[in-house]
Amino acid sequence: MFEDRPDRDAEVVLVGRSNVGKSTLMRELTGHSFDTGGKPGVTRQPNHYDWTGQDFMFTDLPGFGFMSGVEDERREAIKTDIVRYVEENAEAILAGVVVVDGKSAVDIIDRHAERGNVPHDVEMVSFLRDVGIDPVVAVNKMDKVDDRDERLDAICDRLGFYPPWQQWEGEAIAPICAKRGDIEALNECLRNRFHEAKRDDLLQFVK
Ligand code: GDP
Repeated sequence: MFEDRPDRDAEVVLVGRSNVGKSTLMRELTGHSFDTGGKPGVTRQPNHYDWTGQDFMFTDLPGFGFMSGVEDERREAIKTDIVRYVEENAEAILAGVVVVDGKSAVDIIDRHAERGNVPHDVEMVSFLRDVGIDPVVAVNKMDKVDDRDERLDAICDRLGFYPPWQQWEGEAIAPICAKRGDIEALNECLRNRFHEAKRDDLLQFVK
């Protein structure tokens, strides 16, 4: 089980498969680099980033899904911990950001679905909805995507957002390129969430 959660009443969590760029995004959101310990799957604890004297934090939850060298059982344990963490802190969590790789998400989802499994990203989006957290999908690595609109529509379709994706712009679908520091579409979604939650005091954290 995850330990040592800082005592904060407002939180934004990042979830996603390994290697989608969550650490890179976390760095862009906070201006702080996290030592993730190298190997994916090894870091099982969340990375919290909070500000002294402020009642807010970003939390990067461990990556899930395929990780080379990590056993199935351990992968399942990580997912169980993530689900518990979100359930227990759902009241504080103003936004659940599901980070996906724009280049590979649709293929991975379709492959899982063909095998009769519920794909991780689909599961995570519906789980967040179930616990009353409106998911925001950060579609990362858009620099590697040529057919931008088609790709974003396909991601909407798979994750249960009615296409065209532009309907969700600024609300739930955020095409970004974390590596280049281009995360404005996500910041816009978060600003809107904070405003809707009557937490304009938090706008300072998503400039
Ligand atoms: P994590 O496992 O989800 O924390 O992923 P990382 O942040 O460690 O990133 C995984 C890989 O994706 C690294 O090689 C990053 O440089 C790369 N990456 C992250 N963001 C982007 C992006 O926007 N575009 C591209 N092309 N690569 C990215």
